[in-house]
Amino acid sequence: MASAEINPHDAIAWPFFEDRHRALAAGIEAWAREHLAHVPHDDIDAACRALVRKLGEAGWLRYGVGGTAYGGHGDTIDTRAVCLLRETLAKHSGLADFALAMQGLGSGAISLAGTDAQKSHYLPRVARGEALAAFALSEPDAGSDVAAMALAARAEGDDYVLDGEKTWISNGGIADFYVVFARTGEAPGARGISAFVVDADTPGLEIAERIDVIAPHPLARLRFAGARVKRSQMLGVPGEGFKIAMRTLDIFRTSVAAASLGFARRALAEGLARAASRKMFGHTLGDFQLTQAKLAQMALTIDSSALLVYRAAWLRDQGESVTREAAMAKWHASEGAQQVIDAAVQLWGGMGVQSGTAVEMLYREIRALRIYEGATEVQQLIVGRDLLKAHAGA
Ligand SMILES: Cc1cc2nc3c(=O)[nH]c(=O)nc-3n(C[C@H](O)[C@H](O)[C@H](O)COP(=O)(O)OP(=O)(O)OC[C@H]3O[C@@H](n4cnc5c(N)ncnc54)[C@H](O)[C@@H]3O)c2cc1C
Repeated sequence: MASAEINPHDAIAWPFFEDRHRALAAGIEAWAREHLAHVPHDDIDAACRALVRKLGEAGWLRYGVGGTAYGGHGDTIDTRAVCLLRETLAKHSGLADFALAMQGLGSGAISLAGTDAQKSHYLPRVARGEALAAFALSEPDAGSDVAAMALAARAEGDDYVLDGEKTWISNGGIADFYVVFARTGEAPGARGISAFVVDADTPGLEIAERIDVIAPHPLARLRFAGARVKRSQMLGVPGEGFKIAMRTLDIFRTSVAAASLGFARRALAEGLARAASRKMFGHTLGDFQLTQAKLAQMALTIDSSALLVYRAAWLRDQGESVTREAAMAKWHASEGAQQVIDAAVQLWGGMGVQSGTAVEMLYREIRALRIYEGATEVQQLIVGRDLLKAHAGA
């Protein structure tokens, strides 16, 4: 779409974006309308695999992979592109958004810190949708407190031997490989962690439990019992794992905010449709000022979230550190989306809680986004500490 045809009030016209982003947004919207009208939810694993394959064939997964030599769309990951893809997919299907997001999050550490050999081996298949990726950071006793992780990687000759557990791992059970963060012990806390790529068929790695959640996605607890990986499977250098995890999250945390924004936009569209059509008390629901105030509040929340999401994405694409901005975006957009979706459920009345309606599905989809990749409270701490640090350095 040429930029001249774009309504300047549309968010995509804002100066955070370039014309290539505008073309991308139009392209993914058209694709999603054609391909995501009926995503099956009876067999989540099969649905997820099929979505990854489809997204790969269409070329959308290339945006989450860094390096054109490795199947990526550009030499670095274009955060604004990933955000626009997630925002649009989330409007149409939470599972499609998840499928795209996990390919990027699960391979992000390889794009950022992999050797040429590691990138050549994994990334082209991720970009084509032929290999499913996963990001294994959380543990039963190390969620928000990531640095408390206990999974141990012990050096033994040319290998590392992994023992311990990871949990809440998205794509767990269907992934072809896991980027696993483990304690190698160079220093206490965060400075003693390294990152490894572990193939799913590595002896000693098993799926200890599949986990069901309110918005079903493939999710598992992993057990490592003497799982042996070659030293060449390490990403970056020993002790650098925590930094690699945080750099990966700096990109994908902003995209969680973008997915929240997509869910919220869909909720407003659903709310508007109901307000404009539902007859009551001799009027239409939208005729009442209480309804208009509700819709106005939803729109305000969405626009403020959009500004924060696009700012963080744009700033990262300028090569800047976005720790504070990404935290603000995720915090505001996920909490805001929850409120917007709740308002849409209210507008739909009884149908708002009927299983399978769009707003009911959104209500379940949004909840986990306020928890994963750093709960809201963690984002608040990041912002607060960053403010104090800046103040001390002023
Ligand atoms: C659907 C889903 C998918 C996930 N996918 C992945 C994945 O692919 N890979 C992965 O590694 N992990 C994944 N996770 C794990 C996720 O990142 C963790 O659940 C999250 O970090 C919170 O950890 P926890 O569940 O152990 O909660 P806890 O750390 O026990 O935190 C519980 C609550 O405490 C509060 N809290 C936290 N810190 C503070 C504080 N400093 N002060 C006050 N309150 C605080 C927050 O409200 C938080 O929700 C996923 C989780 C879910 C639900």
